[in-house]
Amino acid sequence: MRFSTEKSRQMYQRTLGVLIEASSSSSRGPATFGQCPIFMEKGKGSRIYDVDGNEYIDWMMAFGALPLGHSHPEVVEAIAEAAATGAHFATATPVEIELAEIIQKIVPNAERVRFANTGTEAMMAAIRLARGVTGRPKILKFEGHYHGWYDDVLVSSNVLPPAALGLRSDPVKIPDSSGLNRTALDDTIVVPWNDLPALERATENHRGQIAAIITEGVMANVGVIPPAEGYLQGLEKLAKANGIVFILDETVTGFRIAPGGCQEYYKLSPDLVTFGKALGCGLPVAALVGRAAIMGALQWGGVLHYGTHNGSRIGMFAARANLRALTRDNNAPFADTWRLADRLCTGLREIFRERGVPAIVQNVGPMFQIIFTSQPAIRDYREFCQFVDRTAFQKFVLSLFPLGIYASPSAALHSIVTLAHTEEDVDKTLNAATRALEPSVGTSA
Ligand code: PMP
Repeated sequence: MRFSTEKSRQMYQRTLGVLIEASSSSSRGPATFGQCPIFMEKGKGSRIYDVDGNEYIDWMMAFGALPLGHSHPEVVEAIAEAAATGAHFATATPVEIELAEIIQKIVPNAERVRFANTGTEAMMAAIRLARGVTGRPKILKFEGHYHGWYDDVLVSSNVLPPAALGLRSDPVKIPDSSGLNRTALDDTIVVPWNDLPALERATENHRGQIAAIITEGVMANVGVIPPAEGYLQGLEKLAKANGIVFILDETVTGFRIAPGGCQEYYKLSPDLVTFGKALGCGLPVAALVGRAAIMGALQWGGVLHYGTHNGSRIGMFAARANLRALTRDNNAPFADTWRLADRLCTGLREIFRERGVPAIVQNVGPMFQIIFTSQPAIRDYREFCQFVDRTAFQKFVLSLFPLGIYASPSAALHSIVTLAHTEEDVDKTLNAATRALEPSVGTSA
């Protein structure tokens, strides 16, 4: 059957008078695809199906929100049970305790748990808490790190021409959006990541003023960039020595890198941790967890955190089923996804090497990104901005679609191996990658 996306094209036309960018987020629309996006209709296991009836192996998995894949039977059952008995009460519920207890068991620092709906919301609460308990105004974030679309952190996250970034010793703070609160970024310090001396200088320059240092455990919004050896541990030491709240953003890495996330994997001891994405297995569930002494400030009259939909029953049921499945057999699912990811990444590296294609694959366990570059590795945001051929990546991914493979065409947005993926999926993907690199298919690297 000839690959056709005609129905997607027709639907895209239909959206023009009603939706902006054909969807509900700027990372899903025509700008990301360089053409009309593909309209998806159904998902099952590792597969996703578009409106034209094309089947794809899905490596995007809702930007990491589906650690068990699409429509996992236990999650479907849990959602159905909650839907049939009350989707949401906005009262205290037993399932909220159960889910919090599961999290407490597997996440080392989760002395207290508070649920929200999105990673952005959890981060907003974390920042407010840090400012509240320290009485300090500033927050420190890193270049290329994304923590949601909240004004205070919406800076220097987008990939930009290297000349715009200024010097490493004094990065230019570049707002990611128009319309931000005019003063929102005044108290936000931006520092290059994976650079401990730069962080030491910044904390020295703002001594006594910094409420929180916020970091992703693995950079996940400019490809996949792991922390340098000892970097996160050094960051933690510096934060503690200066009375700064250490906020670890595990929106991407949580319930993915390890049961306890980067915190467990890199042996960290953050004060606050945010989770989102993988927690709800497709439902909008996020959590802020951390030390009781800090979390306690959320009590009424202290640091405010509201939300009609927080702790929705349907989301709690889904998340409970999800975490039960993920931690089954002594956490075997984590080892399984690491193993499969290793096979996929090794295979892809081999294909690029054999064909002399200037591309590398960076991964930390199940998070992986193909990066078109002549560099042996991309170690930070500045290198990503300077050395990555994003157009080649987009072309490569688009040429995989007709071969039944789906991923985000954005070079900055990584892919995910889930529990639903199989050895066969890996083999098919490697075959497709090989074919996509044949000159006749039209991908130039
Ligand atoms: N933090 C990180 C590290 C993220 O990658 C994201 C989303 N990509 C967020 C926070 C925001 O999460 P959400 O989209 O659920 O608001």
